[in-house]
Amino acid sequence: MHTPRRNRKPTFLWQGMLIVLPALMMAGFGLWSLRQDRLFAQLEATQQAQKIARDLANVFLPGAFNGETVIAAALAGDSAAAANPDSTPPDPVTLHGEPALLCLLNAQGQLLHPPVWKDYPEPEPLPTERLTEDQLALWTAAEDAVFSSSETNAAPALLTRVMEGDYPGSFPALAAYQLGVIFQVAGNEAEAARCFEWVTAFNQTERPVSEGGLPLRLEAALRLLQMPQYANPKSGRARALTALIGNEAIRHPTRLSIQWLAALPENAAWMALWNDHENGRILAEHWRQWEAEWNFNSSATAAAQRLAWHWLPTGDGRELLVMPTTTDGGIACLALTDESAARIARETVRSLQTPAWFGMDIEVAGKSLHLETNDSPVLADYTKGTALPAFRVKVSLVDSAAFHSGRRTRTLWMGALIGLSMAAVLIGFATAWRAFHRQQQLSEMKTNFVSSVSHELRAPIASVRLMAEELTHQDRPDPSKVREYHSFIAQECRRLSGLIENVLDFSRHEQGRKEYMFESTDLEALLNETSKLMQSYAAAKNITIRPAAQGAPEPVEADGRALQQVLVNLIDNAIKHSPQDSEVEAGVGFEAQQVSLWVEDHGEGIPAGEQQRIFERFYRRGSELRRETQGVGLGLAIVKNVVEAHNGSVTVRSAPGKGSRFTVTIPMNHHST
Ligand code: ADP
Repeated sequence: MHTPRRNRKPTFLWQGMLIVLPALMMAGFGLWSLRQDRLFAQLEATQQAQKIARDLANVFLPGAFNGETVIAAALAGDSAAAANPDSTPPDPVTLHGEPALLCLLNAQGQLLHPPVWKDYPEPEPLPTERLTEDQLALWTAAEDAVFSSSETNAAPALLTRVMEGDYPGSFPALAAYQLGVIFQVAGNEAEAARCFEWVTAFNQTERPVSEGGLPLRLEAALRLLQMPQYANPKSGRARALTALIGNEAIRHPTRLSIQWLAALPENAAWMALWNDHENGRILAEHWRQWEAEWNFNSSATAAAQRLAWHWLPTGDGRELLVMPTTTDGGIACLALTDESAARIARETVRSLQTPAWFGMDIEVAGKSLHLETNDSPVLADYTKGTALPAFRVKVSLVDSAAFHSGRRTRTLWMGALIGLSMAAVLIGFATAWRAFHRQQQLSEMKTNFVSSVSHELRAPIASVRLMAEELTHQDRPDPSKVREYHSFIAQECRRLSGLIENVLDFSRHEQGRKEYMFESTDLEALLNETSKLMQSYAAAKNITIRPAAQGAPEPVEADGRALQQVLVNLIDNAIKHSPQDSEVEAGVGFEAQQVSLWVEDHGEGIPAGEQQRIFERFYRRGSELRRETQGVGLGLAIVKNVVEAHNGSVTVRSAPGKGSRFTVTIPMNHHST
């Protein structure tokens, strides 16, 4: 047996899912990729930081501090200057433009560079034992002549003989110097200058000194420089004499050196070199103390530690970064003050041109040189060197806002886009759901309409047929019954034609074929006539229709037939919903610009929630099965259509149990609005 397929109710589930699911998936994917983007950025930052740290520690920093070439150049310059006493001073030692300290010690720990400082020149007794008897006699006679006031005149001749004689060591130079002094005292500047020049040009391999240890060449040069012919410090000879004095003072440093240097006409370069050497001597002193404190043994690690870079306090609150290297069994120490080392580190970091959001902390030999970190987490920590870590570079993300700024804008745009598309999808979903719901309601109402119409048609047709058949089969029917049947049949037919009129009218209106004929209409007469017409229906429930009028009656421009249909529908509803033996008021009111028609009953009333919906087509209150009243749900929809065609409005005032009052308001002249 064939079972008819059950009419399944359409659902919105699948359509809704098709709209929302892809959007949800897209949004989810978008959010996920934003998150991935962030993780990726973090990873990238870490990798970048590690690379920067490695580059700094491996390439830039050791290069920046590498002193071997500096040491070699400084020593070469110094020994060249020492070999030629007339030459200009070598430049002070610098490392990347920063002043550095340098000292050189031999394997026994003795200072090789800079020269060892002595308090005073050491007296050197003249080696008279190296003289022959004749030479000694001549020398003694000359000295006696110099120092005895009576025999002054004999001294120059004796001293000249010493100068020209084959004397060893400092004797000739000392004689020439003494002779120069004698000439100078006597006022013979030219002869004095000749003698002093002779001393300065004396055998360069010797270093002639007086018995008191004073360097004779230097003393002679000092005397020459004070003479007027040497006064111009720019002259070649004055410069050579200056160099001679500078070299002597610096190569044989004593308490007197600084006075000699101060006496020089152009001494800036020599003073700079002096300071450089002084620094070197200070460094050597520190180094010796450090070595003594450490008490290095001969183990391999100790040897490595001895050569490791380290910090030495200078006693004035600063520290020296000492960078020792071995040279020919000895040690060359190069050192920088902490400020200089920090400046080099800063310069090096700047030259690397790292992005501004990275901060670097550079540690050299355990001391931080360049601090650019804050509380932000360290992304890379790279150490180079083992015995004492020479370099340690820490890179951190100090400005994470700047680092993330580009990505953040992207995230904002993406987020906004996701939000917007989600909102669009939700709006689409809501609209589709509403449309679906509306369509479903309408189709339900149409189904109800069809069953209502059939029901409305079946009952009267059945009773009309029954009565007609009964009248046909009776030979001599009771005349009163015939009258009753006829009036009943007529009434049912009127009702049927009213119903059909409503349906046709509605369909005309829906198809846009409904035409209205506006003409001057007497609404009071129309109301009275319709009330009378409807009274016969009302009589069945013993209801009285009471017409009422307010204001001065005036002809209104309207479609009389259509407005009568409005009144019929409203009065019909009022009768249907009124209790037995009640009253229905149908009234018309004239005002200045408008006219109103109202129908009021004392029936069950309409709840506020449904007072708008009852004007919808096919809408009927309550369930189809429990409905006691006849009707197909078109009456009020037609009322609304007609009233709107007259540019008017229809309202209802009602409360459950308190009856209803429907009021139609239309303008006097429908063209006026
Ligand atoms: P019908 O009367 O054919 O059902 P209508 O469009 O005229 O259709 O009315 C729609 C619904 O409004 C009715 O089903 C009824 O429930 C409600 N209604 C209309 N007039 C009244 C009234 N005077 N009192 C109470 N309910 C009313």
